[in-house]
Amino acid sequence: MNAPLSSELLKQHLIDPEICIRCNTCEETCPIDAITHDGRNYVVNAEVCNGCMACVPPCPTGSIDNWRLVARGEAYTLDEQFSWDELPAEKPLAEGAAAVAAAADAAAVDTAAADAAAPGEVGTPALPASGAHVPPWSAAHPYVNLYTHKKPVTATVVGNYRVTDADTDSDIHHIVLDFGALPFPVLEGQSIGVLPPGTDAQGRAHHARQYSLASPRNGERPGYNNLSITVKRVTETHDGAAVQGVCSNYLCDLAKGDSVSVIGPFGNTFLMPNHPRANLMMICTGTGAAPMRAMTENSRRRIAEGQLGELMLFFGARTERELPYFGPLMKLPRDFIDINLALSREPGQPRRYVQDVMRERAADVLRLLVQGDTFVYVCGLKGMEAGVLAALADIASEAGHDWAGLSDRLRREGRLHLETY
Ligand code: NAP
Repeated sequence: MNAPLSSELLKQHLIDPEICIRCNTCEETCPIDAITHDGRNYVVNAEVCNGCMACVPPCPTGSIDNWRLVARGEAYTLDEQFSWDELPAEKPLAEGAAAVAAAADAAAVDTAAADAAAPGEVGTPALPASGAHVPPWSAAHPYVNLYTHKKPVTATVVGNYRVTDADTDSDIHHIVLDFGALPFPVLEGQSIGVLPPGTDAQGRAHHARQYSLASPRNGERPGYNNLSITVKRVTETHDGAAVQGVCSNYLCDLAKGDSVSVIGPFGNTFLMPNHPRANLMMICTGTGAAPMRAMTENSRRRIAEGQLGELMLFFGARTERELPYFGPLMKLPRDFIDINLALSREPGQPRRYVQDVMRERAADVLRLLVQGDTFVYVCGLKGMEAGVLAALADIASEAGHDWAGLSDRLRREGRLHLETY
């Protein structure tokens, strides 16, 4: 950590730009705003970072977990970190400083042992007020970082279909990528990085863009080494200014047979439970439906096992025609999944967000929420997060439950997962 090893030495916290997928999770998690970014890199301010470690568990790639022993006063500046394409090698320390470092290392062993004996005290990161940073207890073990910016894998496009009505502004595509004989093992809830070809304004290769898997672990087509992603063509910023999204436009325009550079897989907490009768409460907006499709499809393929719990879905979109996968979703049997749509711009109807519909279904939300086998997943627009958490809090509190205690338990047991951008 960026901890003062001595008055001369600092263990400086750095982010590996070769592995980082620029998902912003670390910046959002940091409780003291020590992490920032430019168009290229995420960086840690050595003047601010106190080594609390809150950012380390949520990072989907592990790129956050890098440290360099530096002489105090020679810490890497933000400008230096912004300019990196890879982490610098460890700097050799002057003789006196090296002795201090060796002594500090020995002390660190003792501290680590003490930390292990006293969880929740020194060295245990405070749990930020967000989602769980642990997977469900019965989740399968994920592979992560098999392919990196330096060593991507090439996939072939075997399908590219629009999944929203052609006459709407929401141009959302379902894209199927095949890995042939190359290993790319994945689980529902994980994501991949796509490297768009070409360079950015500074002439540097584009960094990867992250997309959640929309297909289950055994392939978009069962038994095939392929997966799918859900991509919305970006043509404007959140404020409505015209912009051409580099990777989304590249992906939406791909044809069958085209090659794509892929890195990953990423993510080791937003995973589904594997034990019988586990319930899934899935809350999403727009393309945030991708992981919910993956989990739903995995469950659908397991119907024959007869050991499924309940599936409850809250899905927000502007209109039915802009809701990705609307047709196939509505064909799913009602005794398999409880589908609740929240349409915000359906002509002639009042605006409804997912959190509004959750409140309307409060009794059933509560019934699931208080069961130890219920796992909650939230994915989509950043703005929905606060509204969804407020709805859960109100539903629990109004029924006399202690929401602070319940939400803390949900997080610690890997039962409340948030992925919003
Ligand atoms: P969108 O079409 O902009 O919005 C979907 C719905 O959410 C609309 O009905 C919208 O209503 C509503 N909404 C807006 N603000 C809300 C709020 N505060 N609370 C609840 N609902 C709200 O969605 P999108 O463009 O598809 O964006 C989906 C998000 O998912 C993106 O931020 C994306 O980065 C993220 N995501 C994508 C993936 C992926 O793999 N592609 C994975 C994870 C997350 P109005 O617009 O009518 O107000």
